[in-house]
Amino acid sequence: MEIIRKNDSTYIIEDNGVRAFLLIGTGRAALIDTGMSITDIRSMVEGITGKEILLLNTHADRDHIGCNRQFTKVYIGVHELQSYPQEDPKQELVPLFEGDCIDLGERTLEVVDLSGHTPGSIGFYDRNSRVLISGDPIQKNGNVYMFGPKRSLIGYIASLERLNKRKDDFDEIWPSHADLPIDSSNIQKCTEDIKDILKGNCPFAIKEMHGTSVRAYQGKTNIYLCDK
Ligand SMILES: [Zn+2]
Repeated sequence: MEIIRKNDSTYIIEDNGVRAFLLIGTGRAALIDTGMSITDIRSMVEGITGKEILLLNTHADRDHIGCNRQFTKVYIGVHELQSYPQEDPKQELVPLFEGDCIDLGERTLEVVDLSGHTPGSIGFYDRNSRVLISGDPIQKNGNVYMFGPKRSLIGYIASLERLNKRKDDFDEIWPSHADLPIDSSNIQKCTEDIKDILKGNCPFAIKEMHGTSVRAYQGKTNIYLCDK
């Protein structure tokens, strides 16, 4: 695990191909995702800030919630509650809705609906820095997992089209995987890739993933792993 300090109040935590983010306001801090389960991320972030730390999740895929058990309260997209593997019944789950604002003290994170990759995928827009933390749906040179029962290409493209209308809000996009930072033209590029897949215009290879064979579509911006 590697911590990259962007400035006094913003840190990127790289964890074997997946990222978490620590954003610190004047009142409290937000940890966005907890990576794989291999490190004590809580001690790590408490070593950076003494402020109260809220745990926010972009979604509930395993590589984003690995250390969630270290926290008593989890903020997560309302449509992700159904897929959240709750190990500790005492852990409090707080649903987030599109447009919710999380006030960290002179720093506000706005919840952005990015459903489709999973039913409750969300992003967090850091209004001060004009950075969108996008989770998995917007990447560049990445692998976007779209196979399995809960994922929807139709929902995904609807989210991308909605987001593209406000692309000028974002100076940078910080995805959970692959390139970082990327610019907001990647919203449109991902949209075009998904349209190509839906129209049958995107080349693919069959690939084995965790015992399932999937179609690995080679888009112009990412590889999209979809059901056969
Ligand atoms: Zn992921």
